Amino acid sequence: MIPRKRRIKGEVSPALPIVEQVMDALSRGALVLTSNQRAARTLRLHFEGTMREEGRSGWQAPQILTWDGWVADQWRKMLIEGVTDCILLNRAQERRVWMRAIEATADSGSLLSTRAMGEMASDTTRLLSQWNAHEAFTTFQTGVSGPDVALFGRWLKTFERICDEQRWVSGSLAASRLASTVRGGGFSVPVVEILLVGFDRVLPSQGVVIEAMEERGASVDHAEQPKQAESLSLATCADDREELLACASWVKDLLACEGSGTIAVVVPDLDETREEIDRVFRERIAPWSYEMGSESAPPFEFSLGDALSKTTMVRDALLLLRWLHGPIELEQVSQIVRSPFLGNEADVSERARFDAQVLRRRKRLSLELELREAAKMLIFVKGDATPHTSLQSLSTALMQAQKLAQPRLKKAMGWSDWSDLVREVLETAGWPGPRSADSREFQLRKRWDDLLDELAGMDALGERVTYEEMLSTLRSMAEETLFAPQSRGARIQIMGPMEAAGSHFQGVWFLHADDMRWPRKSSTSPLLPWTLQKEAGMPGAAPAMDFAFARSVTERLASSAAEVVFSYAVTRAAGTMRPSPAVMALGGLNAWGRAVVDTVDTAVEVMEEVEDSTPLPALTGERLRGGAQIFELQAACSFRAFAEARLFSAQPDEVDPGMSAPERGNATHEALEKFWRRTKTQAELERLSTEIDPVSGRTKRDVVLDTCIAEALEVSDSSWERAYISIQHQRLHELLSRWLEIERKRPVPFEVRYTEHEVEETMIGDLHLRLRVDRVDEIAGENGPEFVLIDYKTGRCSPSEWLGDRPDKPQLPLYAIAGELGNVGGIGFASLRPAEKDLWLRGMTRTPDVFPPLRKRSADLDFDQQIQEWQETLLELADSFAAGDAAVGPKKYPKTCEHCGQRLLCRLDPARLMELSDEEDSEDDEA
Ligand code: SF4
Repeated sequence: MIPRKRRIKGEVSPALPIVEQVMDALSRGALVLTSNQRAARTLRLHFEGTMREEGRSGWQAPQILTWDGWVADQWRKMLIEGVTDCILLNRAQERRVWMRAIEATADSGSLLSTRAMGEMASDTTRLLSQWNAHEAFTTFQTGVSGPDVALFGRWLKTFERICDEQRWVSGSLAASRLASTVRGGGFSVPVVEILLVGFDRVLPSQGVVIEAMEERGASVDHAEQPKQAESLSLATCADDREELLACASWVKDLLACEGSGTIAVVVPDLDETREEIDRVFRERIAPWSYEMGSESAPPFEFSLGDALSKTTMVRDALLLLRWLHGPIELEQVSQIVRSPFLGNEADVSERARFDAQVLRRRKRLSLELELREAAKMLIFVKGDATPHTSLQSLSTALMQAQKLAQPRLKKAMGWSDWSDLVREVLETAGWPGPRSADSREFQLRKRWDDLLDELAGMDALGERVTYEEMLSTLRSMAEETLFAPQSRGARIQIMGPMEAAGSHFQGVWFLHADDMRWPRKSSTSPLLPWTLQKEAGMPGAAPAMDFAFARSVTERLASSAAEVVFSYAVTRAAGTMRPSPAVMALGGLNAWGRAVVDTVDTAVEVMEEVEDSTPLPALTGERLRGGAQIFELQAACSFRAFAEARLFSAQPDEVDPGMSAPERGNATHEALEKFWRRTKTQAELERLSTEIDPVSGRTKRDVVLDTCIAEALEVSDSSWERAYISIQHQRLHELLSRWLEIERKRPVPFEVRYTEHEVEETMIGDLHLRLRVDRVDEIAGENGPEFVLIDYKTGRCSPSEWLGDRPDKPQLPLYAIAGELGNVGGIGFASLRPAEKDLWLRGMTRTPDVFPPLRKRSADLDFDQQIQEWQETLLELADSFAAGDAAVGPKKYPKTCEHCGQRLLCRLDPARLMELSDEEDSEDDEA
């Protein structure tokens, strides 16, 4: 049977707006059934508003229900009246029964887990029920069918047998069972008129209920959407971003116009694009919502909820429950430590400090941390004489929660026992925190409680399960439960095409109306014969029907407001797009005539301009932290230098297992420092490279290098860590052996005079600094001894980075002009990267041939002229930093901003920067 929306007998006038058709029907005592929660909520609100307008102080609750809610209600009534003794399984219970059926079928024969197969089988049964295809499936699977279909057939038989024995009924079968009971006269529904609202199509399982109700004398009708659209347009945009900006601009204009109706933004792929829409709408329509402490809610809200498991409060609870059972990753430990929902202390700033300065900086080779270990770390923070209250409180809460759970973690218990334990454990851990809950948190807490009640309700299945099984079920339930806070009644509602059914709006903008995203592609079930799916008209198997359905939804949307705009982006990563055929079939679309481009380059809206002439506090003359790094930052972006070197703003370190890139770089520096402290000259290097050590049979250079590397790498007690260090040792030995060959071949003999040499006090302009250079060689210059400065680099580098008004790497030029050493005759980069092309020594010197010659710019100035230029350039940078120049001006936008930790502070077009962060390459720069 092909589901169709049918006009049945009734008295509804399609000319009236839907809300009026509903009010009319309610006044006649009709039952109103909606296809979705949103429509039911909106109609109830409208009814209440009308009652208030009429001056009534009390009224009977209107009979407005969702279809599923009504069917479940009827089942409860049948149970109470003794018409049935079968329990209706909820989704989670049904999954468990499916898992039992699959386990009981010996030849489950799949690589998937029982849980995954259970979910798939449960979804397939739902499909069979919705399309009334159970009987047809039995006929098909006894004929020619694939092994997966046959296997599903065997699972289904076992599932049905278990349900029959236990007197259980799959929730998806409730409608058809209700229909047959009503039709057989075993149960009567006291309704004479039913009005259906927002049903773009009537599923076969719904159709049989409607028919049964009609047979028993009820009148069933559809509320029809009256034609409304006066203006129907198609906006063609260059790309997704331009499309979203155009939509935001249209919404903003509509908000400013007269009228108070709801503005709908309809998005077919809302679950995938929600975050991007939220960001752009905040940026364009409600920039104030970005301000810290802003309490005004933006004028838009998403109708479609998010998974309960994604909300921070529930995410932290689930994470803690997992931690009780075993170690979790460091990033997750960090989440728990910073969670405002755990521990009994409201102040989480100490915890954030602990996370940034202790947890993230702790050297670890393991990716994971046990709860007990972290709890100890929280109490004994290295360097702090007394523990902080907030840390201690969290530590105690975590330990107590584990103590409570520990004795039961290895047992098998009933679902309600686990549900009680979860409540107790979370309460002991201080969840959901000491502060008073706002409305959203209150609703979240309520939803979580309901979920735990549902978990306890699985006791009806009469089984005992392990903690792991319970937790994995609880997590799946939280993932499948959508949570949307109660509507604030925001004027802009962002929703999917189905949610918009049964409502009318002031204006509608339909985003992503291209031929890839609308209609949405449906996939067929691998557990059902394809011919059955095609004949029944199931989604994905009958393209013509899918298209007809999408057309009817599109037509309904096109009629749901006076102004309706469909839009699409021509260019996307997937290729060139065309407008959706379902939209083009509407006909009569005008080209949307507003200038889309105007909206594209507008920066974040300036709310208020404040002239800030307060002088910066003068530099105190103390030595500045940061040394040459200050010049590097100032050259890259004045604001970044100001934020990092004067405000000391820094982003938390990444949590890396093993040695981080800077640690590997430091080990290389240290090993070379130790080597040259022992070896001193090129002549000695030559001797060590050619003489053989009588004990080991290797060159003496290899032996010395091994000793230096071992001293540079920290040795640990654990055998796993020793193995890791041994690999690092081999890697470094191989790299430095190749490097020392380059040093051997240098044409001008040298002596290493200093390694890791520090100039304690130096003044550059008004800046008082400490500088350090990796190595200082002495060579015989044309006019006497000269010093050559060498900087080891384990990340990418180039001598061109010393040049220009804003040099990227000014450390060696700074040292060269500091004048501490006297006669500096050259500077050079030693690139120490494993690839052959990245292992080199290059630089500029007064004496020729010290380093291989440089290309291009090096020929413009000789070394002494270059020193002069650096003096001017670096003094200018020093002066601008000292004067507090904090202009936001990246040297090369966007490259300079790519790895900057001050993005949030500087407020440079965050939208553009966000896009960049997605594209960041994962190049492993160690220096
Ligand atoms: S993100 Fe760019 S503009 Fe902003 S502070 Fe960093 S470097 Fe400067």
